[in-house]
Amino acid sequence: MINLYSDTQTRPVEEMRKVMARAEVGDEQRGEDPTVNALCERVATLLGKPAAMFLPSGTMCNAIGFRLHVRPGGDAVHLHPMSHPIVAEGGGPSALSGAVLAPVAGEGGMFTAGALEAALFPAADRYVPRSRLVSVEQTTNLAGGRVWPLDQMRAVLEVAARHRLRTHLDGARLLNAVVAVGVPAAEWARGFDTAWIDFTKGLGAPVGAVLAGSPELIEEAWRYKQMMGGALRQAGIVAAGCLWALDHHVDRLADDHANARILAEGLAELPAVSLDPDTVDTNIVVFGVVDAPTFCQRLEDEHGVLMGALGPDQVRAVTHHDVDTTGVHRATAAVKAVLHAG
Ligand SMILES: *Cc1c(COP(=O)(O)O)cnc(C)c1O
Repeated sequence: MINLYSDTQTRPVEEMRKVMARAEVGDEQRGEDPTVNALCERVATLLGKPAAMFLPSGTMCNAIGFRLHVRPGGDAVHLHPMSHPIVAEGGGPSALSGAVLAPVAGEGGMFTAGALEAALFPAADRYVPRSRLVSVEQTTNLAGGRVWPLDQMRAVLEVAARHRLRTHLDGARLLNAVVAVGVPAAEWARGFDTAWIDFTKGLGAPVGAVLAGSPELIEEAWRYKQMMGGALRQAGIVAAGCLWALDHHVDRLADDHANARILAEGLAELPAVSLDPDTVDTNIVVFGVVDAPTFCQRLEDEHGVLMGALGPDQVRAVTHHDVDTTGVHRATAAVKAVLHAG
């Protein structure tokens, strides 16, 4: 089996499991778990924020982040139509924050400052929702793992600041962007009110994400963490895996990026595949084929290769720790065989 379905499919490696088993623990929600506290300090420093909070998932980081910034009942969040909160969180932003979702379109899951400015609702107009939050995804998961150029992101933040909007960085794969272009995480997070990273994507830990921000916002976030059932007990067991991942699984993301590039270049040579390898910035390859669901099914049934259909004619393949270069070459050959067999 070659599993390119997602980088969430990684299994914790033996060394990670060992440090998890030995982790010092305490009552997390009382602030008494030393391993969780160490992880939060570490991520706060990494993201250049004064405070941070451990959460069970990235989805809860978005849920709490949005809830912190949005008043239920009419406040608008501006974000890309392909962003995770719109397509993959079960309607959470409206259910949990009462937010109006105002999509801002753009290439590769990114949008320009101009597009944001044009999408904002006029503050003085009582007929429209109140623009309140801008949420940005780095990297852009379902839009192909693209890395926002720093100046484009800064320009978006500048528009947000000028309109006194709050800002949230969905950094589920922020460290992929760090490794891909060499801009430190704190540089990416600068200017955002809240920012978070996930440990269950390319970092390969089984559970955990950390949300960072000002001490006031994180203090308020504890109320929502409690409310949503995210306040934990001996969570040091899983936080230890996250700490281990920060020490051992960040630099190696470069291998995933190299493998994604090999895959993209191999696929782009096939006439039945539509893909521009220059759009592959990190570990995610999104490409076009006819009848993606049937294609993915055959790839799995006939060759043991897993990829995900994103829609009727788009497929996503994600490289990660558990697939090596040989696996990527085999996956390319399998795609070729399926497409040639018609
Ligand atoms: C995976 C992901 C999330 C959600 O994280 P989970 O830990 O799976 O809940 C949110 N945003 C983006 C961009 C993601 O890729």
